[in-house]
Amino acid sequence: MSKYKAVIGLEMHCELKSNSKVFSSAKNSYNETPNDNIAPVDMAFPGTLPVVNKKCVRDALMMSIVLNCETPEYMYFDRKNYYYPDLPKGYQITQMDAPVGVNGHIEIECNGKRIPVDIHDIHLEEDAASLDHYYDTSCIDYNRAGVPLLELVTEPCLSSAEEAVAFLEHMRSTYKYCDVSEADTKKGQIRCDVNVSIMDCDATELGTRVEIKNINSFGNVFDAINYEIKRQSELKMQGRYDEVEQETRRFDEESGTTIRMRSKVDSIDYKYFVDPNLPKFKIDKEWLEEIKKGIPLLALERKDKYIEELGLSDYDASVIVKEREYAEYFEECLSLGMDAKIASNWLTTQILGEINREEVNLKDFYLTPSLLKQIIDEIKKGTISSKQAKEIFYKAVEEKKEPKTFINSDMAQISDRGELESLINKILEENDAQVEQYKSGKDNLFDYFVGQVMKNTRGKANPVLTKEILKEKLDK
Ligand code: ADP
Ligand code: MG
Repeated sequence: MSKYKAVIGLEMHCELKSNSKVFSSAKNSYNETPNDNIAPVDMAFPGTLPVVNKKCVRDALMMSIVLNCETPEYMYFDRKNYYYPDLPKGYQITQMDAPVGVNGHIEIECNGKRIPVDIHDIHLEEDAASLDHYYDTSCIDYNRAGVPLLELVTEPCLSSAEEAVAFLEHMRSTYKYCDVSEADTKKGQIRCDVNVSIMDCDATELGTRVEIKNINSFGNVFDAINYEIKRQSELKMQGRYDEVEQETRRFDEESGTTIRMRSKVDSIDYKYFVDPNLPKFKIDKEWLEEIKKGIPLLALERKDKYIEELGLSDYDASVIVKEREYAEYFEECLSLGMDAKIASNWLTTQILGEINREEVNLKDFYLTPSLLKQIIDEIKKGTISSKQAKEIFYKAVEEKKEPKTFINSDMAQISDRGELESLINKILEENDAQVEQYKSGKDNLFDYFVGQVMKNTRGKANPVLTKEILKEKLDK
């Protein structure tokens, strides 16, 4: 619609998973009780000293490798100085000069197409405390102070809200595949700043960028970008592009608009300097190699494998690789000897349908791959029809009992030709009027006869054989 081209750059913050915080021994876990997960370091008590968490450094390096970044030879931290009540030290420990990764790139998928995304840098830092605002008072909760945070900054290389969200989804999945974060937006573990500008399609210089800070859901990222593109485009079309200022805005969920907070021109000088309390250390090459070896096969790599080696459709493969736990469930099915397409069908329809309905994680789902196999084996043996299989599936899930407890000999499909023929003869005799109509051209009555056979056998008639016999008898 627009004659302008949008340019988007993202800053994505993601909290890392770890036992203790990034610079203190306080617990790093979701905690409803305020000021419970705290250590003197998080409170900036005089005389306390930070100690860097090795696991967090490892995870940060792993993400740097995944993003094809250059890793530094030495690692150290910088102080970003500013005052705010959620920052008791008066500075945030972050990385400015030597981030864990710079100049990276990664491929993502958007609307079925692979696109490259350039990474400016990725760095390890600490989260600030959180402020809870009430009617006439505000409370500070230091549980979040010192929680490890990875900040990922892309180059201005994305060109639509769809691409931006695809990138964020891709990264969320990657963090989870690498098991470095729960990456749960609902728990506020992912927060984004979005930078948006527009330019003429043939222009070479980037337009003025507007930054929208601290967006906490991907849906809001999508809406904020589209709103901003529209707002800037309208101003430009009216010849008022000089009103697009380099500024920081926030997204207002209620109105779906962005609102100016402050100008970016007079941006704060953080007076960065190297944190003298955290000695510089060398990153061992062997350690890097070891971290690299620990990187699992990621979503898109698995997807390609499922399509090329197992013959899954693009759609099914996408659904399965969306979450690591789906892919692992699927691969466990394969290792138990299940057919890939059959396992994929059960997973993408029945199983994901159930876990979404029950709002549970697949790893907590009652029907494990080996229990699913009980059902699939019986279909293969012909003991049960696929319709019965689904009923057994739901019963097993609901009553949390092994599928085989619901499978009994009297479910067996009727696949005996003689038995079916005599049954069908009887049904056709009882429905002679419909048989007449069918023979005089009402072809669609065929399904009616199939239905009658199923009704009479409570769904146990072998459907293929039933149709075959019916055709023989009716069309002769
Ligand atoms: P700051 O520290 O002020 O946030 P950075 O230089 O770190 O600024 O840039 C932040 C983000 O802004 C990056 O993600 C970058 O890709 C993006 N960005 C820079 N210029 C533009 C532009 N003209 N349009 C859109 N995004 C931009
Ligand atoms: Mg920024």
